[in-house]
Amino acid sequence: MRHGNLFVVSGPSGTGKGTLIARLLEEVPDAWLSVSATTRRPRPGEEEGVSYYFLTKEEFLSLAEEGGFLEWAEYSGNCYGTPRASVEREMAAGRQVILEIDVQGAFQVREKMPEAHLVFIEPPSLEELERRLRGRGTETDDVVDMRMRTALVELSQKMEYDYRLVNDDLDEATRQLVAYVNEIAEQQ
Ligand code: 5GP
Repeated sequence: MRHGNLFVVSGPSGTGKGTLIARLLEEVPDAWLSVSATTRRPRPGEEEGVSYYFLTKEEFLSLAEEGGFLEWAEYSGNCYGTPRASVEREMAAGRQVILEIDVQGAFQVREKMPEAHLVFIEPPSLEELERRLRGRGTETDDVVDMRMRTALVELSQKMEYDYRLVNDDLDEATRQLVAYVNEIAEQQ
């Protein structure tokens, strides 16, 4: 018998979080990825309700005031938040709810829902992280430097997480993440 649970997955940009989560969703049939709300405009190819729920600032702030977000934050003038109602609905339906959010958001969620399981994805090393970020070739040196500084701050908080795994080998990291989620799901 499996029970609904909440998992928060964080880790520096470039650790392969998105790929790991996509693999988890393929391998764990009752895993469900939460869709965040944002006030930023959709980018080409982004779909309402798939990439994000796109809200006006007024809609977002009134939902925030009603306690509609488990956590929310502002980045470069736009608001981003985790809708509470859908997370609660999916947990009640017995699903393994996955949030992909940063360290600050993760700690906010833990305050509101102490039963959340916090998972931190680590790069094999800082050198490897920098190599991956530069290797994408899509970011300027300044952006890579900023991401590396943010990564150091995030890595300094990893001991606060319930479970840590190093994404060195993608297959092995996937195996560990799937095993962790299944183990929690099957606990009483
Ligand atoms: P982007 O605009 O590139 O899609 O996202 C900008 C930032 O917002 C990223 O760092 C992303 O992780 C963060 N973000 C996306 N959704 C949420 C959310 O629900 N809560 C929080 N706290 N941050 C989010």
